[in-house]
Amino acid sequence: MDEPLVDHIRERYLKTLDRINAAATRSGRPAGSVRLVVVTKSQPLEVVRAAITAGATILGENYPEEAVKKIFTLTGSIVEWHMIGHVQSRKSNLVAANFSLLHSLDSLKLAGRLNKDLVESGRKLPVLLEVNVSGEESKFGFPGWNEQTWTDLLPLFKQIIEFPKLVIRGLMTMPPFFTEPDDVRPYFQKLKRFQKFLCARLSQAEWSELSMGTSADFVAAVEEGATIVRVGQAILGPRPGLRQYD
Ligand SMILES: *Cc1c(COP(=O)(O)O)cnc(C)c1O
Repeated sequence: MDEPLVDHIRERYLKTLDRINAAATRSGRPAGSVRLVVVTKSQPLEVVRAAITAGATILGENYPEEAVKKIFTLTGSIVEWHMIGHVQSRKSNLVAANFSLLHSLDSLKLAGRLNKDLVESGRKLPVLLEVNVSGEESKFGFPGWNEQTWTDLLPLFKQIIEFPKLVIRGLMTMPPFFTEPDDVRPYFQKLKRFQKFLCARLSQAEWSELSMGTSADFVAAVEEGATIVRVGQAILGPRPGLRQYD
């Protein structure tokens, strides 16, 4: 084990937790009420191992095959694995079998495939519905940028709720990138309003979780109501290679 690497990650992990807890307190919530997902996508195994040794308890991955390789190699580690990236329907089985929360459920087709896989394995899978609150074409997620059309999504969401093996827990978003974190607040606020909208109309599901905020803006996200933040580079340093948010 690379001790200096572990120490470096631990320091940044603890600092991130402190900033999250301070922001939660400012928004009137208890410290410890926001979960921190450490995003290990594209990071080599030695960094993932160091993150676990440094105290990370939830790891987030974007690519099912890459993630499953890590999960199978690191068996015995007491961590939760979350899938936070877009999942192609044909990879649904990898997600159904290996993750404790899917943040990025973004189509009825994927929901149906997952449900089928889960019926076969006898598991249930907690999921968040990913919402595109900006209208950027590069973003995945159900179209939620125009509040006037939120009602149109209700029949679709109702169908997803009815899959017996999927447990809806809330919403996730990936807003546009701004250098000034305050500029992103309206998008976080929109996801929070959408959550209230859904609570009032589809109360058979639980909408309590809001997964929002990355290295660039997690403090603002917590102040605006995030219950889960997904932070990679601020804790682990830059990702090797070019893939950033796909
Ligand atoms: C990569 C990624 C993150 C983490 O981004 P950082 O800049 O490393 O904090 C969070 N959420 C999603 C969906 C991602 O793809």
